[in-house]
Amino acid sequence: MKKAAILFMSIIMIFMNCKENDDSLNSNALIEDKNPEGCPDIFYPNWETSKHLLPFPVDQSYTIGRSHCYIPEHAAGSPDQFAIDIEMEIGTLVTASRKGTIMFVEESGVDYDQGANNLVVLRDEDGYFLQYHHLTQNGAIVEQGQFVEEGDPIGYSGVTGDADYPHLHFVATDSNWEYPYTSYPITFRNTSKNEKSLIQGQTYKALPFD
Ligand SMILES: [Zn+2]
Repeated sequence: MKKAAILFMSIIMIFMNCKENDDSLNSNALIEDKNPEGCPDIFYPNWETSKHLLPFPVDQSYTIGRSHCYIPEHAAGSPDQFAIDIEMEIGTLVTASRKGTIMFVEESGVDYDQGANNLVVLRDEDGYFLQYHHLTQNGAIVEQGQFVEEGDPIGYSGVTGDADYPHLHFVATDSNWEYPYTSYPITFRNTSKNEKSLIQGQTYKALPFD
């Protein structure tokens, strides 16, 4: 009788212990997934010598929504793994993060319409692409084939395509700019410390640049 009671208690305790471990694992994973401090095990270029400027004008400050490796929209391994959502009201000016040539312009989409995704694609000097998604209707300032210097006006942000709230979806992609593209991690030199690029929930101000 006594042996049976001990065995029973042991089984209960083992069960409770397992359950506790499972719960703590799940909740940790959830927090990490929703608020990543950059993607794990990824090499980020030195932000202080980055070739990239924030994609908005000097002296402006904006807060970051979904950033690198945010699940599910920017999940690790997905095309938008290294995309950054910058929270902006419709009609906010966005600017060239590097100098280069405008490859593609779409501006027919209507805000909140879930139709065409208004997009400007800039091809930088290394042959990579910088993409400005969800711009407002007729929100492109540039034309295809136009050369832009860093910091030059690109267009006005909006909430077109599959955007669920007003923001700029900004993403750097390698040899292909059409979805499903491959994004890569970039940092920004004209703002505060961003060793693992821009972090969700933080606000960054664009500082004067050289
Ligand atoms: Zn996004």
